[in-house]
Amino acid sequence: MAESLISTEPATGAELWRGAIGDADAEVRTARAAWGSWASKPLAVRVETLRRFANVVRAAKDDFADLIARETGKPLWEAGTEVDAVVGKVDISVSAYSERTSQRRMEGAMGARVAVRHKPHGVLGVLGPYNFPAHLPNGHIVPALLAGNAVVFKPSEKTPAVGERLVRYFHEAGVPEGVVRCLIGGPEQGKSLAGHPGLDGLLFTGSARAGMALHRQFAETPHKILALELGGNNPLVVWQAPDIHAAAVIAVQSAFLSAGQRCTAARRLIVEDGKHEQLVETILKLTDRIIVDHPHANPAPFMGPVVDNGAADQLQAAYLDLVLKGGKPLKHLERPDDGKPFLTPSILDVTGVSDRPDAELFGPVLQIVRVADFDAALAEANNTRFGLAASLIGGSPQLYDRFWANVRAGVVNWNKPTNGAPSSAPFGGVGISGNHRPSAFYAADYCAYPVTSSEAEQARAAIGVGLRDPYAENAGA
Ligand code: NAD
Repeated sequence: MAESLISTEPATGAELWRGAIGDADAEVRTARAAWGSWASKPLAVRVETLRRFANVVRAAKDDFADLIARETGKPLWEAGTEVDAVVGKVDISVSAYSERTSQRRMEGAMGARVAVRHKPHGVLGVLGPYNFPAHLPNGHIVPALLAGNAVVFKPSEKTPAVGERLVRYFHEAGVPEGVVRCLIGGPEQGKSLAGHPGLDGLLFTGSARAGMALHRQFAETPHKILALELGGNNPLVVWQAPDIHAAAVIAVQSAFLSAGQRCTAARRLIVEDGKHEQLVETILKLTDRIIVDHPHANPAPFMGPVVDNGAADQLQAAYLDLVLKGGKPLKHLERPDDGKPFLTPSILDVTGVSDRPDAELFGPVLQIVRVADFDAALAEANNTRFGLAASLIGGSPQLYDRFWANVRAGVVNWNKPTNGAPSSAPFGGVGISGNHRPSAFYAADYCAYPVTSSEAEQARAAIGVGLRDPYAENAGA
């Protein structure tokens, strides 16, 4: 009998779902067999089918949001916004497909025309993370299907129920069963899928560690597309902010939304030494008011638990490590119930901690770094191998220009949180946050490849130079 995967609710520990671990080989074969007929359908048919998918998800919003909240632990209101993002992705992807991969015709030489068209790769693997178990894989699956690919999607082993449900919605909407496959399993199944010879590419959202492993795995297959959307160690610089309360709200949203389990969450708050007290005090007061509770609790919580006890253990260990290295806790990371992964938001001043790890602490831990001047703020902001999101709160347009020009990140904001990027724009990072294949609006770019054709109705040709004159006396000599 096939081995099972069991998913439990982080907030209660209750079993939510169980299912058999899948077989990458079988799923890729099925998708390969189905791909050709999907690819050859007119674009209008694929667009219509995906619009039906949006309608199916819209109609199931309450159920789907409930499942997402239960399986991830995120508050129900937040799970609802994730479902909205799944629905909204279809129209955005249709626009992106036509804008980024549209057909073009140009004048060529000797009356020929040059045409640029795009073709799908074939069968693409999609590996998803647990923090947005529907929206993020969907952000790869929808553009991939629209371009005419078939997809084998492996949800995170922590959120298989949401992954399976998402695939069911595609099927209910009329996407053929062979064209979107759900592969249940963990990293082992992810590796088998990534290495499968029948796969034409892999679209990955997850940790930098796994992304690097996949990059190595793809080293000998440069002909296969690999899109990596990875983590961040994101800086939020607050400088000469006229409205301290607004700056504090933005800092709290950036650090603690989704219990800090967002790739764009602010991990480091960079402030001007000596002028930071009021800001930090306001942030601490606001943080004290944050409700951490079950996803369905009333009043609604700001944040739920982190995804499981393993993640909570790791965060507690990383927090303790920072304290042992000399970080000063301003608000402790607490775990009210040892057997559950609820963590309270925490804030540490790590100024002067010389061996601070450049790691993504994927949870509610905010590190404060005090610096003397704006040059030092920029240097600290860039003091990371990651490069996903960065925000400046306060300052003048000139200061923001300096920030924008010097900070190394794919998302650079002013007076806005580090998180909550719009799907209608490209989204991706530099450094070890990705491999220069930005997602969201630009996902269309890696779901199809361009084909350039020079075309004429009739063959007309002449060689103008370099030939002997056939009528000359010594022609042919
Ligand atoms: P993860 O890397 O542990 O897992 C992601 C997926 O990859 C899962 O499906 C997992 O089973 C699979 N996997 C893990 N190791 C693998 C390997 N060696 N080979 C093949 N497959 C493997 O990530 P996670 O913990 O589920 O998600 C959190 C991470 O995702 C954070 O680092 C976060 O920053 C990142 N993330 C990035 C973005 C983005 O768009 N840049 C968005 C959300 C989350």
